[in-house]
Amino acid sequence: MNTERSQALFERAQALLPGGVNSPVRAFKSVGGTPFFVQRADGPCLFDVDGNRYIDYVGSWGPMIAGHNHPAVREAVERAIRDGLSFGAPCPAEVTMAETITTLVPSCEMVRMVNSGTEATLSAIRLARGATGRARIVKFEGCYHGHGDSFLVKAGSGALTFGVPTSPGVPKALADLTLTLPYNDFDAATKLFDECGGDIAGLIVEPVVGNANCLPPREGFLHHLRELCTRHGALLIFDEVMTGFRVALGGAQARYGVTPDLSTFGKIIGGGMPVGAYGGRRDLMSQVAPAGPVYQAGTLSGNPVAMAAGLAMLELIQAPGFHDALEAKTNALCDGLEAAAGEAGVPLTTQRVGAMFGLFFSDEKVDTYAQAIACDSAAFNRFFHAMLARGVYLAPSAFEAGFMSSAHDDAVIEQTLVAAREAFREAKA
Ligand code: PMP
Repeated sequence: MNTERSQALFERAQALLPGGVNSPVRAFKSVGGTPFFVQRADGPCLFDVDGNRYIDYVGSWGPMIAGHNHPAVREAVERAIRDGLSFGAPCPAEVTMAETITTLVPSCEMVRMVNSGTEATLSAIRLARGATGRARIVKFEGCYHGHGDSFLVKAGSGALTFGVPTSPGVPKALADLTLTLPYNDFDAATKLFDECGGDIAGLIVEPVVGNANCLPPREGFLHHLRELCTRHGALLIFDEVMTGFRVALGGAQARYGVTPDLSTFGKIIGGGMPVGAYGGRRDLMSQVAPAGPVYQAGTLSGNPVAMAAGLAMLELIQAPGFHDALEAKTNALCDGLEAAAGEAGVPLTTQRVGAMFGLFFSDEKVDTYAQAIACDSAAFNRFFHAMLARGVYLAPSAFEAGFMSSAHDDAVIEQTLVAAREAFREAKA
């Protein structure tokens, strides 16, 4: 595979952008090698600047659930841009967007549009703190909620210790307010709330973890979190930036039947444009400025072009049977990968929730972050490169979920499996 132009671009980029990229995982640091530079994308495929085609299971990290460059989304954007790119004043599409989100996700009685998932989560915890008058927040190890200071924190040693920053630049005093729990551990959550539930403003969770490979919740785990939060007067925040509109039309909260107080969204609701949102109970959202005192704002929030793209995407995913069809595709891919790994004698476990999946180089089902990081990431890295060389692009890290789109047809899935049969043999240590 010729990658000359990508190599040259990466060289130029490294002198100008930190690590050569505008978001870390794109640099292939975890898997090694040089990232390819994308010229264009269409349906299930990316095409790089050297003319190589890749079947894409990253989907821009989630938004492209209907495939790349979908004509309905593109045309909506083309129509919108004729009227101008940004108004900084209310526009009709924002109202339609709010109506659409609140209809599809009934726990959101009101929403506020922002420009990224990061903005959504950090605004949601500010609201949780403002509404409860409490300072502490709880998150789970292995969950990612964007790069807000309060989230770049890991557990200190011991059950109830203050959080430790995972990045320089995060003040210790702020990290102290973030408590971290192991995901899928009922008892640890109970214990923490028993010890300091009255200080906790909110608990934020990826209801299906997509940032530590793919970890579904254990049966009843999300209900347990709901009960703890209710009992202790803390707000339950579902970070559905990844799961929203993907694991079901109504997101993970619909799939598992648990109602959070606040939810955060991103990715799909922007159709590929920079969009996020947070929403929830009316009494809580009514405390956001200018209706209430909790400040939050944005020059480009509710941008008309971004709203047009998102609305077109949300229209597409409401087609009857859309999510069932995606789930069937995910199952066909994952079953096929497990069979191919089995033939090659490579231990592989796949985990799927709707149109999200994870590949674990392990014999066992993986429920916890500790198990996820114990899997053979060197084997994943070899498999990643063997697949890339055959024109299949998986997330460039053993700790990211894969995403299926409606543009991945049987033929593309079969091509993926043909590549995988060879790649597993090659990746075998
Ligand atoms: N929350 C979750 C669950 C995410 O997966 C991400 C990004 N992958 C974010 C928040 C942050 O979103 P963004 O990158 O748009 O800031």
